[in-house]
Order: sequence, then C-alpha cells, then structure tokens
Amino acid sequence: MLDQILNKIESDYQLSADELKLLLTLKEADEIKLLLEAAYKIKSNIIGKKVFYRGLIEISNICIKDCFYCGIRKSNSSVDRYLMKEDEILKSAEFAYKNNYGSIVLQSGERNDKQFVDFIERIIYKIKELSNEKLGITLSFGEQEEAVYKKWFEAGAHRYLLRIETSNENLYKKLHPLDHNYSKRKNCLKILKQAGYQVGTGIMIKLPFQTYDDLVNDILFFKEMDIDMIGMGPYIVSSNTPLAEENNYLIDEDVYTLSLKMIALVRIYLKDVNIASTTALQTLKTFGREMGLKAGANIIMPNVSETLYRSSYQLYDGKPCTDENAEDCVNCLESRILNIDEEIGYGEWGDSAHFKNKTRS
Ligand code: SAH
Repeated sequence: MLDQILNKIESDYQLSADELKLLLTLKEADEIKLLLEAAYKIKSNIIGKKVFYRGLIEISNICIKDCFYCGIRKSNSSVDRYLMKEDEILKSAEFAYKNNYGSIVLQSGERNDKQFVDFIERIIYKIKELSNEKLGITLSFGEQEEAVYKKWFEAGAHRYLLRIETSNENLYKKLHPLDHNYSKRKNCLKILKQAGYQVGTGIMIKLPFQTYDDLVNDILFFKEMDIDMIGMGPYIVSSNTPLAEENNYLIDEDVYTLSLKMIALVRIYLKDVNIASTTALQTLKTFGREMGLKAGANIIMPNVSETLYRSSYQLYDGKPCTDENAEDCVNCLESRILNIDEEIGYGEWGDSAHFKNKTRS
C-alpha cells in the first residue's frame, strides 16, 4: 500500500485526503523513513540542496492578544515586557546583512496602535537603507488593517508570516478568547496576498483536542489558500498559560515524529513552497531542525536578536539558545547544515519558488 502511494508521488499525482491521512498515521519506523526520504527527494529536485536563512529579530514581547497557549499572552503577568530600541533592531539587522544571511524576519507580539505601526514602517525603511536594499524583509506582526499591511509593503517588506494556528474553526475557538476571530485571521491572509506579499502561514502540531483529520485539513487549507510559505511546529506547553492545564490529547503519538511527518507531507503535497524547520523542533531534539531539513524543509530562522532580550521572548517552555549570542549561532549553524550535506544560500533572498512560479505564469 505504502509502495503504491510513494510511486504515485514520484509520478506527480495529487494525493487524496485519505492517502494523506494514511501517510500521516504511519507508525513503523522504516515506513516513516521512506516517507521522509520521498519528501527530501522532492525538495532536492525542486529547490536543490540548499537552505536559506532568515535572521530572526524578536523586537518586542508586548501583546494585546491573549491566546491560551502562548507564553507572552497579555494576561501573563510573570513576563518582563520589552520593546527593542531602534538602534538595537538596526544593529541586529546589520549583523544579518554583514553575515550574508540574505533575509531577516521581524516578529513581535501583536500591537496595532499608530505609534507601533509608524515605528515599524520607519524601521523597514532604515533596514532597506543600511543594506543597500539587499536584505529581504519578512514581517510577523499578527493581524493588522489592510492599510497597515500596504504601508509596510510600500516601505519594503515583501513577505509576511501569519499562522492560522489551526484551520479547524471550532478548535481555534477552544484555543483563543471569544474576541479572537478565526475568519478575521483567515481574511488577513487574503488581504496580505492582495497587497503583494509572499504569504506564509502554519499551524501548531499536537494541540489538545486536535485530531489527525484536523492536520490533514490543515494541509488542504494551505493548498486552497495558495500559500507560499509554511511554518509549522510542535505545540509545546508554556507554563502560566490556560492551555497548560489541558490534558485532553486526542493524538497519541510522539510530537517530534509527527512534526517531521507533517513537514514531509506538506512538501509532497504542495511541492514548491518554502517550508521552515522551526526552533520549536530543535527544542524537542538537539538535531530536530536538521531532521526537519531532511524531511523536506528548506528554511532556517537563526535568532539574531540581542541575547539580553531572548529569554523574555518565551513563547513556550525550554526555548533553546536563549543564552547564546548571534555570533555563536553563525558557526554552530553552518557546521550543522554542512554536516547534513546541504549548502547555505548566503546572500540570497530565497523567495518561495511557488510565488515565483505563480507570478511568472
Ligand atoms: N504576534 C504574531 C507572532 C506570534 S509568535 C502573530 O500573531 O502572528 C509566533 C508563533 O509562535 C505563533 O503563531 C504560534 O504558532 C507560536 N507559538 C505560540 N505559543 C506556542 C507554544 N506554546 N508552542 C508552540 N508554538 C507556539
């Protein structure tokens, strides 16, 4: 049965939802290995043996949202709140530029006040300036008005990450307070696309109440929304959050293996999108991120934020590298990637092939 499906993958056949589920629920180690290898082969054929960097700058943990799973939710009073100063953000961006990272991601908790919106706009212009327009800029600042997305795009950002978190609206409701709205978030993905961004979304894996069918539907959702980039990772409990109390897990499987299977299936099903191997994977296993690359991912987001702030951007427990500085990461990462026989796309934007293919046709 597995052989038959894997043969179909090779011949460019679009898998059905049932076939996706069958692959997602594989249990035998040798079968899972075949699945991950099939995905890696597709990645190598379409993108080459190349990994692109996005230097991650976590500019602030101040947040107006109250997501039940997130360590920096508004109601978590045990968090030291910070906003990096302009010159600190620029310094981190410059570090990424000087080290030839090609692109950066600016991320923070959600804020939509004018002061914040203007601050980000100014930062984007300044980063473009300091890098002679060379550094690619991805934003991840949550849900915003259309005019704000447009303003930031005008300023020079060209990719945006907004995880839908789960494509099951009922599950979404269980994970968020009543005033957090699934349809609004979904609509933001459409607005972002219209504004011209390459759009990234993603989900958390093995959430309480989540089923295998939900995960299969997440993959179908990515396709239906014509998404360019995917960032998925395991849900990791964050103490001091309401969801930490919830033990109703419907999936009984190691989240690490499940996350690798999800990466592989997204690569197999969507083919030419960018897929991030996330830090949350590395939290679970020392070489988790490398394994993500071997399962079909092609993007890594090394942290270039000031070490000083890293421990305060604690979305979940046990986040790695919070005591390392960006310099440490450069050498450590390079050798990790060369070790798995992949190259680093230094100095390249590493845009989504899906986006390019779409705009070309
Ligand atoms: N405010 C921005 C960025 C949020 S943080 C936004 O709303 O898009 C980035 C991601 O961290 C979130 O989208 C979420 O998927 C992830 N995250 C938050 N808490 C987590 C947890 N406990 N385990 C794993 N991932 C988590």
